[in-house]
Amino acid sequence: MATLYIVGTPIGNLEDVTLRALRVLKEVDLILCEDTRVTMRLLSKYEIGTPTMSYHAQSKLSKVDKIFELLENGKNIALVSDAGTPCISDPGVLLASQVLEKFGKDVSIVPIPGPSALVSALSCAGISVADFVFLGFMPHKKGRETLFKEIATSKRVMVFYESPHRIEKTLESLEKFCGPERKVIIARELTKIYEEFVRGSVAEVRNFFNVNKDKVRGEFVVVVSAVS
Ligand code: SAM
Repeated sequence: MATLYIVGTPIGNLEDVTLRALRVLKEVDLILCEDTRVTMRLLSKYEIGTPTMSYHAQSKLSKVDKIFELLENGKNIALVSDAGTPCISDPGVLLASQVLEKFGKDVSIVPIPGPSALVSALSCAGISVADFVFLGFMPHKKGRETLFKEIATSKRVMVFYESPHRIEKTLESLEKFCGPERKVIIARELTKIYEEFVRGSVAEVRNFFNVNKDKVRGEFVVVVSAVS
């Protein structure tokens, strides 16, 4: 029986990869990547010569057919994304469901756990995160206001991903809907050279990024404390 491995890879620091992930990436017949150039940095560092192919939700059907054919022939495949755990807010999300639909129990889908920006941010947030709601990326238009209203009254910690282009706008919306005193934690550039946690009230954090424009870059996870 063929296996599709869903392999967690680093979110910045290339040392954040498990021994099992490296073994699986070495042993499979093909690695499906969000961007092969990004994954090649990891594969080169660990001297892994497995063939790669790009795959994302918009991939042509012919590509999906090729993946199906390989699995039908008993070949093992690993799916990785550019960063972290595949399928968590990234373009690999469709593959597991397509494989399940096509093969049912005839192909095993096996997780190889690894880093995720979501969990890394929560682990150092410094607030109680016994339970939380993960929102993925905030929508740009439709549904955005509704979601901010939900965050405003949430009794659970709310977490989402944000881009440098939108982080200031998002903080502005948080202040508008949740008020200036709501506590937030911004985890920036996790595991990278400029890793930073900015903690404080929404007003304080907004002011921080207003004053430090050079920090409005990189990758962000936003953690919003619950209503007490
Ligand atoms: N699958 C990934 C995971 O498990 O974390 C998430 C992929 S999603 C397409 C990319 C978003 O994750 C970025 O826009 C950012 O919000 C967040 N992210 C990824 N790497 C990060 C890092 N090193 N520091 C902070 N946020 C990060």
